[in-house]
Amino acid sequence: MRQIDHHIVGGAGGSARKSDIFDPNNGGVQAAVALGDAALLDRAVAAAKAAQPAWAAVNPQRRARVMFDYKRIVEAHLDELAELLASEHGKVVADARGDVQRGLDVIEFCCGIPHVLKGEYTQGAGPGIDVYSMRQPIGIGAGITPFNFPAMIPMWMFGPAIATGNAFILKPSERDPSVPVRLGELMLEAGLPEGILQVVHGDKEMVDAILDHPDIGAVSFVGSSDIAHYVYNRGVSNGKRVQAMGGAKNHGIVMPDADLDQVVNDLTGAAFGSAGERCMALPVVVPVGEDTANRLRDKLIPAIEALRVGVSTDAEAHYGPVVSAAHKAKVEGWIQTCADEGAELVIDGRGFTLQGHEEGFFVGPTLFDHVTPDMESYKEEIFGPVLQIVRAADFEAALELPSKHQYGNGVAIFTRNGHAAREFAQRVNVGMVGINVPIPVPVAYHTFGGWKRSAFGDTNQHGMEGVKFWTKVKTVTARWPDGGGDGSNAFVIPTMG
Ligand code: NAD
Repeated sequence: MRQIDHHIVGGAGGSARKSDIFDPNNGGVQAAVALGDAALLDRAVAAAKAAQPAWAAVNPQRRARVMFDYKRIVEAHLDELAELLASEHGKVVADARGDVQRGLDVIEFCCGIPHVLKGEYTQGAGPGIDVYSMRQPIGIGAGITPFNFPAMIPMWMFGPAIATGNAFILKPSERDPSVPVRLGELMLEAGLPEGILQVVHGDKEMVDAILDHPDIGAVSFVGSSDIAHYVYNRGVSNGKRVQAMGGAKNHGIVMPDADLDQVVNDLTGAAFGSAGERCMALPVVVPVGEDTANRLRDKLIPAIEALRVGVSTDAEAHYGPVVSAAHKAKVEGWIQTCADEGAELVIDGRGFTLQGHEEGFFVGPTLFDHVTPDMESYKEEIFGPVLQIVRAADFEAALELPSKHQYGNGVAIFTRNGHAAREFAQRVNVGMVGINVPIPVPVAYHTFGGWKRSAFGDTNQHGMEGVKFWTKVKTVTARWPDGGGDGSNAFVIPTMG
């Protein structure tokens, strides 16, 4: 049995507790991951503390060169990483490549870190006085990441954290931890000093140890909302800087003038791709007007029935299994709830089996119509291959649905009407908006973050927001007197007037 261990300075040293790693394609256990504790974290933090000052003192251009080399090395390992990722997560290999690539995009951004770290400068802010600011690293940062993007989200965090001069400790999901470990190993090949990027595995025990550790100054979390909220509260009450991204329930609004063939193509990918296990998936579609709803439904049904569910190495498959048996049971439970709540179950994906992979964690594509906002299955995140149609009478009713929902991660509008699109983008109470773009994950040099219960804290991931999160601003007010004195009264609060 393959053992997945911590990637820390001085070696992992074994952990008594372990957790099974499944192969979602066939349901079997393929490996075991060590689950660390506070003592193990102490060792990692001590190594980070020893290494960080020297790394922060490396000039930004040289730190950027490590990022350049890392990008090249990860690209050279792209196939290996994508296959490893797919084998533990269950997403198809082509999609797993995208997972790595969207993380690498942020590493690419970090290659320009000298430019973005330039501070502000005011010459002559007062008589003989200059003011300048600099961004300094927090010291030691930690990232706690979910199972659904085991390459992308760690890179979103450790890229900016490391490039800005911090040491970083990653606690990836215990469900698919192999790729995060490889990402740490490859950083050493890129020339990153030991101790600057370490990977510790674990569950709540390790998360609590991170949140309570006095030497960790900032924690970035991505996962489900209740845990995000918990992490935020505990981290902040311990004096840390915390950003905590949570769950989602993204809506796709379909206006009567939308190109429905494009919508159906985009929607099937966004609702069922990666078995719906994306925080930017579109599990709710809101056609505006009965006629739009009926036309959309007629086109959606054959498109969904044509989807190919397969093992993650099947190059023809649209999506693979969900991550675990427990998650499969949870998704199927939500399908039952939604039916019990009175929605029309148009296509039922339960009981799906793949020949030769009968024990795999597969869920067939599922479509509900006539879902209403009062249903629990609408209010909560299902995180599976389940698409719910919620019919809206008009634009205002459609706008209200995502705006009032407890989650506010992403939303999309499909229309040919520029005014409606602009109005929607302006008024919707959601953090990331797509206009004829179903999964509006912003590019690396913009930032990623939802609103409401989709994010706690006030800085987004990556882009300048990421740089801000991982650094502290220091502002220097400097006076170089000529020795003659300026006659000012030192007992009065200084003004520049
Ligand atoms: P999860 O909340 O179960 O786990 C996330 C992390 O928290 C893991 O590292 C896990 O080990 C840790 N954890 C689990 N239980 C814990 C507990 N009781 N106390 C402390 N830590 C705990 O999330 P998941 O199932 O791995 O990922 C899916 C969720 O993540 C979905 O809700 C999805 O929407 C969300 N997500 C959000 C974003 C975003 O940017 N908003 C991105 C990706 C995923």
